[in-house]
Amino acid sequence: MLILNKIERKIIEEAIRDVKDFPKPGVVFKDITTILNDKKAFSTLMNHLYQRYKEYDLDFIVGIDARGFIFGAALAQMLGIGFVPVRKRGKLPYTTISEKYTLEYGIDEVEIHIDAFRGEKDARVLLIDDLIATGGTANAAVTLIKQAGAHCVEACFIITLTFLDGYKEVEKKTPVYSLVEVK
Ligand code: AMP
Repeated sequence: MLILNKIERKIIEEAIRDVKDFPKPGVVFKDITTILNDKKAFSTLMNHLYQRYKEYDLDFIVGIDARGFIFGAALAQMLGIGFVPVRKRGKLPYTTISEKYTLEYGIDEVEIHIDAFRGEKDARVLLIDDLIATGGTANAAVTLIKQAGAHCVEACFIITLTFLDGYKEVEKKTPVYSLVEVK
């Protein structure tokens, strides 16, 4: 399986902007808009994802609300396959399946359309998001993919916060591929 080389990793790492104390004090927010508006970083990233995942025989990409949509939809188009959004509760218009997950304070919920995979049996799916922290969102998304009748082949994150154990929880369900690790 193709992994990122050192030069590519450096280009992508350097394009991520750290914003301290956003959205609340103590959090370092990893801003990926500075990958998107950097043509070299964005194309390095998307070309790498294309080269890796063209070998996977995927049927769909699932992207997580909202930044996962950007990378997921672009990759799906490059691979010539469909894109499916997993959205926060109340945003999808048709019949949905939903999954709750716990946050530091309280609970949240994500949803997928019941017919997201167009009735294809055991469709091969890649899950993608910009970042995994506690893993709550990604874990719920993997559950939704299964409940909608598809098979999550891998979960891909541009950034993994490895000082949190979230990615380990997801790894119990599906292989995890991280491009940049933040220790
Ligand atoms: P979690 O469910 O805790 O793994 O949180 C993952 C979701 O929250 C992703 O969709 C990320 O976009 C967002 N997120 C959490 N922490 C950060 C952070 N430090 N910087 C940027 N995005 C974050």
